[in-house]
Amino acid sequence: MKLQGKTAIITGSSRGIGKAIAEVFASEGAQLVITGTSIKSAQEATSEIIAKYNCEAIPVAVDVSKLESCEALVKASLDNFSKIDILVNNAGITKDGLVLKIKETEWDEVIAINLKGVFNCIKAVSKSMFKQKHGRILNITSVVGQIGNVGQVNYSASKGGIIAITKTCAKEFASRNILVNAIAPGFIRTSMTDKLSEERKLIMASAIPLKRLGEVFDVAKAALFLVCDDSSYITGQVLSVNGGAYM
Ligand code: NAP
Repeated sequence: MKLQGKTAIITGSSRGIGKAIAEVFASEGAQLVITGTSIKSAQEATSEIIAKYNCEAIPVAVDVSKLESCEALVKASLDNFSKIDILVNNAGITKDGLVLKIKETEWDEVIAINLKGVFNCIKAVSKSMFKQKHGRILNITSVVGQIGNVGQVNYSASKGGIIAITKTCAKEFASRNILVNAIAPGFIRTSMTDKLSEERKLIMASAIPLKRLGEVFDVAKAALFLVCDDSSYITGQVLSVNGGAYM
């Protein structure tokens, strides 16, 4: 059991990649704080994961775009488990549009949730991690933060910013034994990519060297590696999980 006795907060773990990360962590013995935007979505995932893995887990509703909401998330986690060993910043949204057409509100919302949300959660958790002198922070960025994407100026900017946050925090936190890394998934089959037509998905898959879209557990297994003791000399890195789509 690679995470026995560890407590992990995973934002956006009510579904998709975050839920798969929660499942893999649960299977390795972690205690979990499972979050969604509503207590209902968080509670449903929590009940399912407890039933499947017989683990300890609590649901918390959070809006990562609000610092006070992230502080409340950290408080609820500490009240229940007394410590936080791992933070996975996974919550994210898309509001796509070409630069000429995108609305200011669509820019603001994506930046507030995807980029400021990562900063808010790190800021909220850092005090307790600094005090205990250890911690793992894993940020979920995206291949489009590395290479850009037509119609995703807001999303690409938010994901590129997450890479900068990762490297900055890795440098700032290293002396406290807090390791900060990121995963850049390629195109992974979730509700986020279900919005695309089947034809578009086939075109995308044919352009990927491994000739398929990724699955949520492809990302979750890489996440396990970056938060467990097997990666204790790795910080400030971006691990691509993209089937070779970008090398
Ligand atoms: P998803 O299935 O759409 O799930 C998004 C999660 O984020 C849900 O749990 C949702 O909660 C939560 N969320 C949304 N807004 C939030 C807010 N304001 N505060 C807190 N939580 C919020 O997404 P996914 O496809 O699994 O993606 C997960 C992460 O991987 C995202 O950061 C995404 O950018 C990144 N990523 C995805 C892909 C891909 O191909 N899918 C590729 C690269 C990177 P509710 O359930 O309550 O709505």
